[in-house]
Amino acid sequence: MHVLNYIGGEFAPAHSGQKLPVFEPATGRQYAEVAESGKRDIDRAMLAAEQAFGDWSALLPDERAQWLNRLAGAVEARADELAEAESIDTGKPLKLAATVDIPRVVSNLRFFAAAASQFFSEAHDMGPAGFNYTLRQPVGVVGAISPWNLPLYLMSWKFAPALAAGNTVVAKPSEVTPVSAWMLARIADEIGFPAGVLNIVHGSGDSAGQSLSSHPLLKALTFTGSTRVGRHLASELSPRFVKLALEMGGKNPTIVFDDVDLDTTADEVVRAAFSNQGQICLCGSRILVQEDIYKAFRDKLVERTGRLVVGDPLEDGTDQGAVVSRAQFDKVMGHIEQAREAGSNILVGGSSAQPGGRCDGGWFIEPTLIEGPGPDAAINQEEVFGPVATLIPFIDETEALAIANGVDYGLAASVWTRDLNRAHRMAARLEAGIIWINCWMKRDLRTPFGGHKASGLGKEGGFEAMRFFTEPKNVCVAIGGRRET
Ligand code: NAP
Ligand code: MG
Repeated sequence: MHVLNYIGGEFAPAHSGQKLPVFEPATGRQYAEVAESGKRDIDRAMLAAEQAFGDWSALLPDERAQWLNRLAGAVEARADELAEAESIDTGKPLKLAATVDIPRVVSNLRFFAAAASQFFSEAHDMGPAGFNYTLRQPVGVVGAISPWNLPLYLMSWKFAPALAAGNTVVAKPSEVTPVSAWMLARIADEIGFPAGVLNIVHGSGDSAGQSLSSHPLLKALTFTGSTRVGRHLASELSPRFVKLALEMGGKNPTIVFDDVDLDTTADEVVRAAFSNQGQICLCGSRILVQEDIYKAFRDKLVERTGRLVVGDPLEDGTDQGAVVSRAQFDKVMGHIEQAREAGSNILVGGSSAQPGGRCDGGWFIEPTLIEGPGPDAAINQEEVFGPVATLIPFIDETEALAIANGVDYGLAASVWTRDLNRAHRMAARLEAGIIWINCWMKRDLRTPFGGHKASGLGKEGGFEAMRFFTEPKNVCVAIGGRRET
């Protein structure tokens, strides 16, 4: 299988002919190749997008909505195939891809199709002097760079609002997991999606990514990935005044007070820590537990974590699949080793896992819970992005807040308590863009989505995304010749 670029409605290998290997994490074996694109490919894609912009932006919002809905329908019709491909390419359990990733692609497309026809702008009345109205016009060619953890889900979260708002797109998925984006391109092609409106260029960050972010035709860039790369993009794009939305890393606290139901809360806290092998930016990787229930709650977490079945992602009984790559496997194991050397106590897990059979060479890690050392230790400060969570006791609300806010990141937090006053107090004082009270990963696509501090810049979701992908322009209209300044 050779994963090709989709540029101007045509499929092509990288101009240089270069390719990169694509691996199945569950087996550790290469099963495909992907175009390693560079400047020439990005140039062609940007030109195709620039040429398509006139006609696409001139469509009525409702006509753009129809195209997005048509794409959603075609994706839905191929949901099983896409879910299997996503599971094979990422190592995530097939049941997760089938119930979360692919349905969410369909929802993203339908949601932003609806947003296209619901989007509106403001008018500011000046009484007898006149009035203002705001035009929100598409910005032009938009770049979308996305990561490997939720490949098609996050890519569609970006290109759907960009297209709905009337822009054209050049998307660069992670070359670690390129297959579902390629399948989407073929689906778009099959339904006759207008050429050049959605271009997908594959390749590494250093080559395709860098060529995209430095391209002179680029008017806005939406990026989801690490804080390291996000910082680099900000330093490169800010002097050029290119609009930039950054969704980056996290070290999210899960804060459990002593008034909760221990069993139901433990179920959810384990899910929050280990879904998708802990490779969701929103995973709760620091579990803060109030001291009176610390030991009892810890035992429940350990028991539940130990019961998670690590196995072949394609099998129904599997809770935990493989981590996405050899590099990620080494990185996560390195964090565990470092925590061990720093004197932490590994409560459960801590080693690689070998499910056997066809998965012998796969990159599996046991879900791991770590206790101690203090909140300032590396394992409690650095994003691991794998099946690793730490436990930290706290005395009261004040201490919980200090620990929760005591990291560079500020993406998400969850608060578990029956005391609603306390829950709202915490929500107001937590430094994070997304707060869940007595739940995790409950999503309403209308809400602003994105992090604070080193986790994000700009927001996506709902009309926030539509505003990001448009440029406001105020038009001031005088009435009746009255002179005003
Ligand atoms: P990453 O290394 O930052 O890569 C993200 C994307 O950027 C990839 O497509 C990557 O290509 C590309 N890239 C790398 N260097 C680039 C450069 N110099 N110029 C342009 N593009 C470049 O992140 P990752 O390891 O794929 O994903 C994991 C990270 O994403 C974690 O930190 C996680 O928290 C974060 N994340 C955040 C959210 C959120 O909503 N806040 C959601 C999901 C994930 P390559 O694949 O070639 O490196
Ligand atoms: Mg892969």
